[in-house]
Amino acid sequence: MNIILFGAPGAGKGTQAKRLVTGRGLVQLSSGDMLRSAIAAGTDLGLRAKEIMDRGDLVSDDIIVGMIAARIDDDDCANGVILDGFPRTVAQAHALDEMLDSKGLALDCVIEIKVDEAALFARIENRAAETGGARGDDNVDTLRKRLAVYHENTAPLLPYYADKGVLKTVDGMNSIDEAASQIDRILG
Ligand code: AMP
Repeated sequence: MNIILFGAPGAGKGTQAKRLVTGRGLVQLSSGDMLRSAIAAGTDLGLRAKEIMDRGDLVSDDIIVGMIAARIDDDDCANGVILDGFPRTVAQAHALDEMLDSKGLALDCVIEIKVDEAALFARIENRAAETGGARGDDNVDTLRKRLAVYHENTAPLLPYYADKGVLKTVDGMNSIDEAASQIDRILG
């Protein structure tokens, strides 16, 4: 089963993805986590990505697609993946279609976690407090920019996946457990 968890920054994609890893034995592919690992490792990619991430912009499609394409070929992904934070542009969505096609795989479901914008600000501030500001992009100014980027580049994927008949929506304003139950009902 191959799933995309979709939503604005702070919607809870990572939290729900981790639950599905434990509950269903799927592999979480988080483009943001991969970039943060590259930053922590001090690679060239990490150095270039950090500046872009800290200002809330998107890392280039080529870099992101290359990173996901390399990882999705690993054996542990054969049983299915949860894509978290990817795709974020129409070009990335097309690249994902090609990746899955070439492996004879299908995209089973895109789950949008919908959250009011006011709540996103509160969540990001909470996360910054809980992690001691570990993420350079967890602050109000950068979130404003990330939301603008989300509306411009990423939200257009919703009609793209709705047209394919794979889009489902859960209410991310509910508790984590309630959103998780809704996701479980969708996935069956
Ligand atoms: P996330 O952890 O998914 O919120 O991503 C944190 C940051 O990493 C984003 O604001 C972007 O700068 C970068 N990033 C993560 N995933 C992507 C992607 N699919 N395309 C472009 N940039 C990305």
